[in-house]
Amino acid sequence: MWARRHCYNQLLEHFEQKDVKWSKAAAYRHSINIIRPAFPWYNEVSSRVTRNAIDDLDNAFKHFFLRLRENKPANPKAKTFREKFGFPTFKKKGIGDSFALREKPKFSIDGRELRIEKLKTLIKMRQPVRFVGNLNQVTISQSAGKFYASILVETADYNPHAPEKESVGVDFGVKSLAVFSDGTEIPANNALQRNLKALKRKQRRLSRKQKGSNRRARAKFAVAKLHKRISDQRQAVLHELSDRLTRDYKVICLEDLNVSAMVRNRKLARPISDDGFGMLRRMIEYKAELRGVEVSFIGRFEPSSRTCSECGQIHDMPLDKRTMTCDCGNVMDRDLNAARNILARGLDTLRPDLKRTQEWRKTPSLLGAAAVTA
Ligand SMILES: [Zn+2]
Repeated sequence: MWARRHCYNQLLEHFEQKDVKWSKAAAYRHSINIIRPAFPWYNEVSSRVTRNAIDDLDNAFKHFFLRLRENKPANPKAKTFREKFGFPTFKKKGIGDSFALREKPKFSIDGRELRIEKLKTLIKMRQPVRFVGNLNQVTISQSAGKFYASILVETADYNPHAPEKESVGVDFGVKSLAVFSDGTEIPANNALQRNLKALKRKQRRLSRKQKGSNRRARAKFAVAKLHKRISDQRQAVLHELSDRLTRDYKVICLEDLNVSAMVRNRKLARPISDDGFGMLRRMIEYKAELRGVEVSFIGRFEPSSRTCSECGQIHDMPLDKRTMTCDCGNVMDRDLNAARNILARGLDTLRPDLKRTQEWRKTPSLLGAAAVTA
């Protein structure tokens, strides 16, 4: 990372001189004849780094000359000619730090170990690659003080196949992340929940720090770091859930959590927050399309938690009541009961012409009941 920045800055130092003209070929010559011999450690980094730096600077110069030609200043108010048209500037630490390796022999991955050409040590990754297939490219980047390897995989993973199970209804629980209508329970990610709590604490602490102080800057960095960590964790959790659903079932029925703000207060405590749900929804939708799976979203007004999934009666179900107990004899976990209702309603909206399905016969009064309470 810093090698790419170093190379970029070295090149710029040479080419910003008045009588030196920029060209990619000249940049290659300069890097081979001057920069590399001057800094022997370049032998330890991949030649990709130099080429990336040259491409970056070439891009910066191209844009500068284009603005100049079309007389479109980037900063019309700037005093100097260079500033006005955005002459390439030196790269500071931490801005756009990344480089990509595209050729096969330059990197390889074995389990959780990433090998990069000319780097003697192996890099330990936090998680193994989730897909099976050809590794085409790895991009190393840095954000909030952490390094990230983004790996491009050519995969047949999404090819349509026959999922083993028919259909599923999913309820996003209060305690667990999700409960499926077949009884599968996906527990909430404890590390994520812990980090969310820690974030709240850190944010409170940040707001108390004096503006412009060093302590505030440090607290701000800590918050940014945790933010990034949480968003990564959340993404991993949602990928896992959406993968599992679209791989195992032919039809997926979900409650749409993105309804109006008015109904948002019902299950505030659930592990999948409303903003996280938007991300999950997008993941499920594109994965379902790739895998040829049907998805049905039902409105959030459906009283899925309060309706008995066996007979359709509506009951009073405050949040702390964990079990649905109905006089028809149905005794069921609250979230499982909700998941079954969601499955029935989802299938019904998906196939209104098939009202005589087994699920429908089980809940004859559900539609009528929903209309009354909504
Ligand atoms: Zn009942």
